[in-house]
Amino acid sequence: MGITSDYDIIIVGAGPAGMAAAIYGSRMGWKTLVLDKGAVGGLAATTPVIENYPGFSEISGLEFSEKLRKQAEKFGAEIKELVEVADIKTDQVPIEVNTSSGSYTSKIVILATGTNHRHLGVPGEDENEGRGVSYCATCDGPLYKSKKVLVVGGGNSAVTEALYLDNLVRETYLVHRRDQLRAENSLKKAILENSKVNILWDSVVKEIHGSEAGGVKKVTIENIKTGEESSIRVKAIFIAIGIDPNNELAKKIGVELTEDGLIKVDDHQRTNLPRVYACGDITPGQGQIAIAVGEGTTAAISAFLDMRGGDWYGEEASDG
Ligand code: NAP
Repeated sequence: MGITSDYDIIIVGAGPAGMAAAIYGSRMGWKTLVLDKGAVGGLAATTPVIENYPGFSEISGLEFSEKLRKQAEKFGAEIKELVEVADIKTDQVPIEVNTSSGSYTSKIVILATGTNHRHLGVPGEDENEGRGVSYCATCDGPLYKSKKVLVVGGGNSAVTEALYLDNLVRETYLVHRRDQLRAENSLKKAILENSKVNILWDSVVKEIHGSEAGGVKKVTIENIKTGEESSIRVKAIFIAIGIDPNNELAKKIGVELTEDGLIKVDDHQRTNLPRVYACGDITPGQGQIAIAVGEGTTAAISAFLDMRGGDWYGEEASDG
């Protein structure tokens, strides 16, 4: 491609979008590096079960993530986990990516930094995180097999997690602030008609109480219609109240964001910065794995064609 650099393409974020970009990038013959401050799979890895990704009637988030990793590595993509990207110098060619484990240059950068779990912000939440307060039922649910647990939220994540826990633990409560679930119909039907989950409607968590021995002891709940407070003794609380964009890096390097803090992209997943693309949940969309994968694919193909001046088969690549 004319420019000398360590990599042809660096992808920040190893969720489904970033990994799809890595699979396409490496398969097109590009020297591809994927960086993630966590592990391959991103939030998808924390989903107990994925039932709506075409081709898999049921697969766990962890297994799906492992398949993504193997497929990308098969085509030669390099994946570095637990590496945080501190800054990206986009006003130079090649682009320089500075990370917690060194600097790398690349012709193209794709941002697939995804989203993170939203916190409730109630007393006891931060203090007990990792000791009963969890944002991932797949990861921590098995620790509470013979216990009572509580899930907060009314969307797809909360209902999926409550259903998973219903099959695993002694008793599951779901606390939702309204009298209707936001989750899609099949999940609503499953929880309302085919589960033992106790749903506390119109209710919010006011406080999470830890025990002296460590770990969660009980949770104070308020019914927001009646103002009545009650407490439930549970060993764990799984918070699934939505997600916030991981946009600190995008902000820092001057990528244009929407009002919601998501990265603005065109139909080809291009950002406002040349040679910088974005895909997946960090861009506006429906938060679906299948869509994230499509966007990652589009980002890699667009970058490839942009670098070649729109020529898919050309021998000579332009410098973009
Ligand atoms: P979500 O759809 O935004 O739902 C968040 C839920 O938490 C809502 O029910 C909301 O209540 C509640 N909530 C928000 N802030 C709250 C607070 N401070 N206190 C109490 N409750 C609060 O988030 P999500 O379920 O994490 O899903 C995120 C995205 O991933 C969505 O696009 C979703 O479709 C997708 N996803 C898809 C699947 C699937 O396809 N199977 C599985 C998981 C996630 P209100 O309803 O009152 O707003």
